[in-house]
Amino acid sequence: MYAFEIERPETIAEALALLSEEGGQALGGGQTLIPTLKQRLAMPETLVSLTAIGEMQGVCMSDAGEVCIGGATSHAVVAREAADSFPALAAMAGHIGDPAVRNRGTIGGSLANNDPSACYPAAALGAGATIKTNTRDIPADAYFIGMFETALNEGEIITEVRFPVPRRASYQKFVQPASRFALVGVFVAQFDDGVRVAVTGASENGVFRWSEAEEALNSDFSAAALEPLSVSADQMIGDLHGSAEYRAHLVKVMAKRAVEAA
Ligand SMILES: Cc1cc2nc3c(=O)[nH]c(=O)nc-3n(C[C@H](O)[C@H](O)[C@H](O)COP(=O)(O)OP(=O)(O)OC[C@H]3O[C@@H](n4cnc5c(N)ncnc54)[C@H](O)[C@@H]3O)c2cc1C
Repeated sequence: MYAFEIERPETIAEALALLSEEGGQALGGGQTLIPTLKQRLAMPETLVSLTAIGEMQGVCMSDAGEVCIGGATSHAVVAREAADSFPALAAMAGHIGDPAVRNRGTIGGSLANNDPSACYPAAALGAGATIKTNTRDIPADAYFIGMFETALNEGEIITEVRFPVPRRASYQKFVQPASRFALVGVFVAQFDDGVRVAVTGASENGVFRWSEAEEALNSDFSAAALEPLSVSADQMIGDLHGSAEYRAHLVKVMAKRAVEAA
């Protein structure tokens, strides 16, 4: 590890002031960033930890009935505090990695990183969440650009994420046993105005909505409605853990399980 400074501001305003200085980078739970620094794939001069900022912590309900999660809230807190208001989201957070990862990793870090196998991108896109930053509100449909790529600008931080609460929902992941990330994960949510289906772990372009499944489930919310569908292996991830064809097959399997569980 190289030498760097670390700051722990207690307000968003202080964090933004520190991040506006040359060489500063936001630090969430450090579960991705710290290993990156150890390998010297990134070498920021100052890490600005967001985890001591009270206004970016915890889970609450908005007046509009959305579940609001502070951008520096750990997965373990979401698993605990969203259990009554949005059980599918809480269950998703409660199955991320292992206890150490869940106690350190944050929702903001996960969504900013946008790992193609991460669970939160599927939940945010599947529930049609709004990603709130220090400058704007970004709908999930406009937020995920590609693998490790988002709509965030340099120095912009995720302060809160707002999730509309569906009538019913479930996230099902086929676990990659070495990392606990999703080999394929599918989040299905049924709202009064329609069904959303988001898939992580599968595509070379990162998380995506499976629109054919949404259409089928809008007519008939049952696993049987997905049976006639198939997913193309084109642009699916193929690696030592699973071929592109295997992942394409798993998308339908996990979607059916999510519908049944919802
Ligand atoms: C062994 C292991 C297993 C894991 N398993 C899973 C899994 O099953 N499912 C899953 O979804 N994830 C998994 N993860 C990922 C983990 O849960 C974290 O979500 C992820 O590492 C990033 O979150 P973090 O808070 O640690 O961010 P950091 O590592 O601190 O930061 C990551 C990036 O986000 C930026 N950043 C951090 N916070 C913010 C913010 N609020 N606004 C803007 N930018 C920000 C940082 O500058 C950095 O670029 C796993 C990680 C490990 C190490």
